[in-house]
Amino acid sequence: MNALRIPITLIGEEGCVFEECVSVASIQPPDTRALPVETATVSGRFESMGGEYLFRGHVQGEYEGACVRCLELARIPFDVEVAWVFAEGPEAVFEEIGHAVELDSGSAPDIEKELEAPRAFQGHDINLDPYVWEEVVFAQPSRFVCHDDCAGLCPHCGVNRNHHACHCADNDTQEPIGNRGLAVLADLFPELAPKQTKE
Ligand SMILES: [Zn+2]
Ligand SMILES: [Zn+2]
Repeated sequence: MNALRIPITLIGEEGCVFEECVSVASIQPPDTRALPVETATVSGRFESMGGEYLFRGHVQGEYEGACVRCLELARIPFDVEVAWVFAEGPEAVFEEIGHAVELDSGSAPDIEKELEAPRAFQGHDINLDPYVWEEVVFAQPSRFVCHDDCAGLCPHCGVNRNHHACHCADNDTQEPIGNRGLAVLADLFPELAPKQTKE
C-alpha cells in the first residue's frame, strides 16, 4: 500500500484535493542516505489539463539534528511550494529525477530544468514518492542551528550560554552579539553564573 499513489480516475475532470502524511523512510529510494526527517506531509490539489495532470501544493516536514553551536536538538521545519505536471509516458524522466537526487551531497543540480519537465507516469495512477523524496532532499538545511540567536557553548568553560551566563565572556574578544543580554543577566544574578574551575 503506497499512500502517495493516486489513481487517475480519482482526479477526474474536476480535480481533487490530496493530503497525506508519510514516513520519509518509506519513500527513501534504495542506495540513498537516510535523512533526519520523520515524516513528510503532502497537501494540495490535482487538476486535469487535457490528458496531463497538475499537482499544486506543499511538501512539509521537519529536519532534526544537533545544533552546531550548543549541541541541543535543533528542529528545522520546511515548507516547499510545488507545482508538478504529470504526463503519461516512458520511464526515462524517472531516471533523470533519480540522477538529480543522487547529486544531493555534491553540487546543486539544474533544478529549474527538472521542475519544468513534465513528470512521467505509467498505467492508472501517479506515484508521488520520488518527487516528494526529491523535495525533502533539497530542503536539507545547510547547517543545524536551534535558533538564529543561539548563544552556543562557552569555548572556555563549556556552559550552554542559552541557559546560563558565565564570566568567561568578559575575556572573549569574539563575543557574539546575542551574548550581551546574558552578560547583563550575569551582572544582575551573579549567583547563577557557574564558578570558573579551569581555563
Ligand atoms: Zn543551539
Ligand atoms: Zn564560560
